[in-house]
Parts: sequence; structure tokens; C-alpha cells
Amino acid sequence: MPELPEVETVRRGLQDRIVGRRIAEVVIRREGLRFPFPASLKTLSGVNVEGIRRRAKYLLLDLSDGRVLLSHLGMSGRYTIFAAEEVPPEPPRAGGTSGDVPVSRFGEVTGYEGRHDHLELVFEDGSHAVYTDPRRFGIIDLFGAEQESEHPLLRHLGPEPFPPWDSAALGRAIAGRKTSIKAALLDQKTVVGVGNIYACEALFTAGISPRRQARTLVTKRGQPTARLVRLVDAIQRILAEAIAVGGSTLNDFASVDGGVGYFSQQFSVYGREREPCTRASCGGTVRRIVQSNRSSFYCPSCQR
Ligand SMILES: [Zn+2]
Repeated sequence: MPELPEVETVRRGLQDRIVGRRIAEVVIRREGLRFPFPASLKTLSGVNVEGIRRRAKYLLLDLSDGRVLLSHLGMSGRYTIFAAEEVPPEPPRAGGTSGDVPVSRFGEVTGYEGRHDHLELVFEDGSHAVYTDPRRFGIIDLFGAEQESEHPLLRHLGPEPFPPWDSAALGRAIAGRKTSIKAALLDQKTVVGVGNIYACEALFTAGISPRRQARTLVTKRGQPTARLVRLVDAIQRILAEAIAVGGSTLNDFASVDGGVGYFSQQFSVYGREREPCTRASCGGTVRRIVQSNRSSFYCPSCQR
């Protein structure tokens, strides 16, 4: 599943390749993904893409008519950008009536014979942004910018996991919480974008067991403990490193230019069940447990 670093990588790729372009047409090849596509997608012709932001794992395209095009990559969504000269010729219509939407002509690049190319933004300069999503858990929505703060998918999101967010803020959020620190980190109201992999890695770096009660990382006076400070440092450093290398490549994620990152080769604890702990001189063995239906990998010897 694309996590925050992958989504940020996609945002940067899209920023370079679609911001400033004018939408000529939106091609829609199915009724929706996790939710139906808004009917208003058809009304984007002639609108400019003025910017692209990321909030948690949502991509937000700011449009020149005051609307915002939201997308979430779900489990397997991705964008592929084709410059005008890379766009293959239109294929013959698939044996149907004249009103049929043609099959995707991008299948050789996007894969699956184009069967999962569900949405396409066609720009006036002839370039295309193709949204491909085999598992169809992605989300597309379109709304006025003034509705953003009350949008049902956005309004309950906690802070981004980067400064000014810090250990004091996390401490305030988890003070008194009897839930595990792992569950607290995955709760998007506490902080957004610390997915399962990065939560496991950061807890390992900070030497904190994923099973530890969150409230024990805050002092009686409400201050973050030294270990909570280390945890926030680890979260911010690990996410920054992952963004720097272009995100991990778990499942079938690919960045917009088709390139792939390599962060998945560098996990210290995630996916290492029954392997020796990677911390020098620890000698422990990595365990996998299930918390909130997600796998937690940790070393019981050096994570307490
Ligand atoms: Zn260890």
C-alpha cells in the first residue's frame, strides 16, 4: 500500500509534470472506485491545474475555477504521465456501440492490458495523466475549495508528522491513553501518515515495544519522556529518508515516471520475523504479533 513517502513522491512527480497545464478532457472508464466518481468530473474541461498539495495520504489538485480534485491511491493506485509524443494512437473501439468508452491505449506501459486504467486527464498540450488501480480502493472526489476544511475525509485528520509537530504535541495527544503506542501512531487523529511499516521502524529505532501503553511515554506533568522524544525524532527521520529515496516499492506501487525506489531493502525490523535483531550486540530475535489487525514486527530484547 502506498504510504506517506510514496504519496509525497507522487506529489512531487505530478507537480513537475501537470501543474500549469490546462485540462482538455476527462476520460472515465468505470463508475467509480471505492466510491462512485462525482458526476462533476465531466466539468473539468478548460480548467487549469494551479498546484498540488498532499494532506496525509490525499493528493489535492488546486484548480483555477476554485475547486479541488482529491485523490487517494488506496491499496494499489498510481499515476502515469505520458507526454504528447509518448501517447499511443487511439485503439479501435471495443466492438460496441458508438457511445462506448474505448479501452485504454496505455496498457503496455501501465500494465494489465490497460484494464485497470480507470481515469485519464487529457491536457491541452496533448499529455495525459492516467490513473491505474487494480484493486480499486482508490478515491477520487471534486469539491469547492471552501468545503475542504469540512470535507468528511479530511476534517478529522490529525497533524502532519513533520515540524512544527513534535514530541510535546504527540505527548499531549497520547496523555492518559490506555491504548498501545503502536495503535496510537496508526490512529489518524493522533498524527497522520505514520503507516504500519514506518511505525514499526520508528518504534524499533526508539527502543519502544509496540505493546507499551501510550500513556507511559508521558510524565505525570504531561511532558514527553526521553523515549518519546526519540520516537518522534525517529518518525521524522525515517519518513524524510523514505521520501528522499522516492518511497518504498511494496506491492505494485511505482512513481509517476515509472521509476522505483529502494527503501524496502533497508527495513530494520519490518518483515524480519524470526531473524536476528539488526541492532548491534542485541542478540534478540524479531517477533511478529498482530495489533489492530496489522502485523507488528519488534525485538522483545531491545524494545521495551
Ligand atoms: Zn534487539
